[in-house]
Formats: sequence, structure tokens, C-alpha cells
Amino acid sequence: MASTSAFPDLIQPFRIEGAAIIGRLVRLGEAFADTIEPHDYPAIVAELLGETEALSVALAGSLKYDGIFTLQAQGDGPVGMLVADVTSDGAVRAYARVGDENAPTLSDGTAIDSPVPHLIGNGHLAFTVDQGPDTDRYQGITPLEGATLADCAHLYFRQSEQLETAIKLAAVVDETGSHAGPRAAAFMIQRLPGEKPADIPDEDAEERWRRAVILMSSLKTSEMLDPDLSPRDLLFRLYHEDGVRMYDSRPLRFECRCSRKKVADVLSRFAPENLADMKTDEGVLVATCEFCRAEYRFDDDDLVTLNELRKKSNSTS
Ligand SMILES: [Zn+2]
Repeated sequence: MASTSAFPDLIQPFRIEGAAIIGRLVRLGEAFADTIEPHDYPAIVAELLGETEALSVALAGSLKYDGIFTLQAQGDGPVGMLVADVTSDGAVRAYARVGDENAPTLSDGTAIDSPVPHLIGNGHLAFTVDQGPDTDRYQGITPLEGATLADCAHLYFRQSEQLETAIKLAAVVDETGSHAGPRAAAFMIQRLPGEKPADIPDEDAEERWRRAVILMSSLKTSEMLDPDLSPRDLLFRLYHEDGVRMYDSRPLRFECRCSRKKVADVLSRFAPENLADMKTDEGVLVATCEFCRAEYRFDDDDLVTLNELRKKSNSTS
């Protein structure tokens, strides 16, 4: 596989000087390549998944949490489900569930201007933060009422009365004439209320925010995904007039958290007759991780053990 080291997996926080605007640049190279490698997605699905993964990192980066942030898009279209999650220590993973792989929109290979209605369809976008068994799960939800995932995220921020936010997403899998490998990126800026420097009049602050959004919108997909353009150069190219301060970047990596034990825990909640129904013709139960396609096989002896586990947990709860 082509080296993607020129496009390191990272989240780069920054602040536009003299304006109460913070931002994050997310880049996924190898982590995105590893995410799609076990699957055989059509290019437009893989690219939508790359955007989902990059968006999840950008959104998670705006929260203080210790656990797992999950972004899930669900709809009635040919790509009925997209899931991406990111842990607070920078492990990312994602998958797409493709219902009808023969849908013409998926196989003809042409880019789609409105991927959300065409691929995901009618549905919603949900955000969850899981900080462990005894903590509240924060959940945000918004209907899929935009042409792109970024549009849907904008709608969420507008409706939920959170910070004014602008997001731009990009992803590519196979480019003709490029050896850079799959890449995905997110660019997000947010306006902090009540933190305006005292010497800047209100109209000016408004104007600076508008300009920051316009400059971000002027970013080309090719620039966002350019392995030869460092985060520093990209940010400077956009915001050199106002000045931009970069904070320490944080590394990201692909990592699936599935394990035989977790699969066994889930299976142990099923009644024996239901588990028997899930067996293959060879008499084993094969559970496949939707994220990394790892297969966990359970034979009859394992199923007996699972049933004992189930009885034990029923009697203790
Ligand atoms: Zn897995």
C-alpha cells in the first residue's frame, strides 16, 4: 500500500488571533486507510465514511469527555447506516452498512453533489458520549436535512443553540495519478460567545467571524487533502491576515476495540434456542465485527459455556 505518512493522522487545534474563534483541523491518512481496508466499499461510500470519521473526530474534539464519542447516521437509503467512534485517547474506527450494493448511485462511480439524500436517505444523525456504565450518556440528534454531512452538522448546531459553528469535510480514496493513498479531513471553526477581546467592536467581531467562514469555505477539497500542504501552511494560507495560533496537535490512530470476550458477553444474553438459530451449516456460530471484520467463532462447547454465563448473570441480577 502507498505510504500515507505524508498525511499524518492528527487533530490540530488552533485559534484565530484577535477574534474569539477557535478551530480544529482533522487529518486521517493511514487511520482512514486501515478503516476501509477490511471492507469492499464502492468509492463514494468509502469517501462518505471518511467524512463521517473525520467529522466524528472534529465534533469529539469540541467536548471534554473521558470515554467514547459515537457519531451515527441512519436512513432509508442504500447506505442505511454510517457509524464512527473516537475514544478520548485518539483511537478511531468506522463502518458503513450498505443495503443495496447494486444501487446505480453506488456503482457508477460519479461523485454525488448531495450524498446525504442520495445515499443515506431520510433519517437522522445522532451523537453519543459514553463515559462508562455509571455515567449519563449525552445524546444529540438532528434530522438528515442537508445535502452533505457538513450541512446536517450545521443544522444540529443551529437548532441546539450551541456555539456558532462552520464545518467543511473532504475525503478521497482512489485518485488517478496519485500515490498518496486514502485521505479524509475535517475543518471546523467555532465562535466563542462572551470572549470577544474588549478592544474589538461588535460589528467587527461579526465581520471577523463572517470572514473566517468565507475563507474556510474557499478551501478546496484538493487543499484539504494535499499531503504536501502541512497543517501550519494550510492555516497560514487561510488566516495569515488575522494571525493564527496553533496549539499542540494530538495523534490519532485506527484501533478496533472488539474482542472475543465482548462478543461472548453480548451472545450470553441470548436464549440457547436463539443462539442455535444463528449457527452456520457447519454448526458453528460466527460473529463478525462490523468495524474491522474480525470473525469470532463459537462451537457447541462454547455455546454451552455461554449458556452457563447467561444463567449466572440472570441469577445475580
Ligand atoms: Zn473489530
